[in-house]
Amino acid sequence: MANEPSELLVIRGARAVDPSAGLDGVVDVVIERGVIRRIGVGAATADLLGSERARVIEAQNHWILPGFVDLHAHLREPGQEYKEDIASGLAAAAAGGFAHVCAMPNTRPVNDTRAITEAMIARAREVSPVALHPIGAITMGQRGQDLTEMADLRDAGAVAVSDDGRCVTSSAVMRRALEYAKTFDLPVIQHAEDHALTEGAQMHEGETSTRLGLRGWPRVAEDIIVARDVLLAEVTRARYHVAHVSSFGSVRILREAKSRGLGVTAEVTPHHLLLTDASVIGYDTACKVNPPVREEIDRRALVEALADGSLDCIATDHAPHSPLEKDCEFAEASPGMIGLELVFPLLLGLVRDGAVPLARLVDALTAAPARIIGLEAPRLAEGRMAELCLVAPDLSWTIDAARLRTKSKNTPFLGRTVTGAILLTLAGGRLAYERAP
Ligand SMILES: [Zn+2]
Repeated sequence: MANEPSELLVIRGARAVDPSAGLDGVVDVVIERGVIRRIGVGAATADLLGSERARVIEAQNHWILPGFVDLHAHLREPGQEYKEDIASGLAAAAAGGFAHVCAMPNTRPVNDTRAITEAMIARAREVSPVALHPIGAITMGQRGQDLTEMADLRDAGAVAVSDDGRCVTSSAVMRRALEYAKTFDLPVIQHAEDHALTEGAQMHEGETSTRLGLRGWPRVAEDIIVARDVLLAEVTRARYHVAHVSSFGSVRILREAKSRGLGVTAEVTPHHLLLTDASVIGYDTACKVNPPVREEIDRRALVEALADGSLDCIATDHAPHSPLEKDCEFAEASPGMIGLELVFPLLLGLVRDGAVPLARLVDALTAAPARIIGLEAPRLAEGRMAELCLVAPDLSWTIDAARLRTKSKNTPFLGRTVTGAILLTLAGGRLAYERAP
């Protein structure tokens, strides 16, 4: 169970970074009953520091960031709780600095109704202060044919619609979905994959797939769908969002669309920003993801597009699988890797390398995704509910399965030493996570 707030929490001398509040400076933060009461230089007055009811955290050399928002996680409940459930998924999210998580609808059964959406939100409220925002399906059963009752889904709390895991391949269905979702102001999130071009695909199509003898998933299968959907979004003027962009071609199409003022947005995952198809050479099933990790030319294009905002936000595509789905032949393995707990420490490397400014990384994890789903973004400002994380940017640690809160351990980053750790997360005004020393 989540802990109750300490009545008075004082964080002293941390660097607070919140681009949406125009903030980057060393401050004290005073949180009382879950609300940020004061933030600024000298906010921790002698009175407060002497108060018996105050918990004081000396945070020199630490950072305070707004709580993160994930647009794309698979929490597996209902139906596959042996991989993850809402409690373990939200515990992992809190450990990763997240205050808000969107749950994809490819559960068993599929979240295509008001009842499932409501049940997920109710369960989340019982088990975690981290807010869960369901994403409803675009089509009933994610079968790509009949549209869901999007008004019901929205009224129940869904923040977007997606058939993620499957692409809406029919242009007619996609057009109707965009038109329909627009009337409810819901973004339509596409898993862009022309399935006719990816049948039996195991990894990115290129020299490496040829060498390994694995069937390839060509970039163009993504690019075709993104290009078509941008044209449909232009006709319908609906809100269109591309999930887990993986190819340089998609980036080019999105840049062009944005330059014409279309309301299209996109996300990128940590693994597409960090890995290439070379990671598959040892047939490590932890590196099998959909869409696949591609080549250096793609990875570089994704990093540049994240840096310049052509890719709006970072989403984890947290996809837990048990050893049943991963300790097997590469061809039989299910695609996906976990991400909620690792995204920030892993991506901090891009900031250190000078590839992405820290303010952009923070924006891409907080205000940018919040804007896409119409959520009021967590903010470091007086009077706002405390939704924030405290980070030790210089703390090195080795990623170890025993430390992870997710039920599944499918990540190729196990054993890697990273620098940067989430020390504490407040979500919904409450303490959602505190790192064990
Ligand atoms: Zn997907």
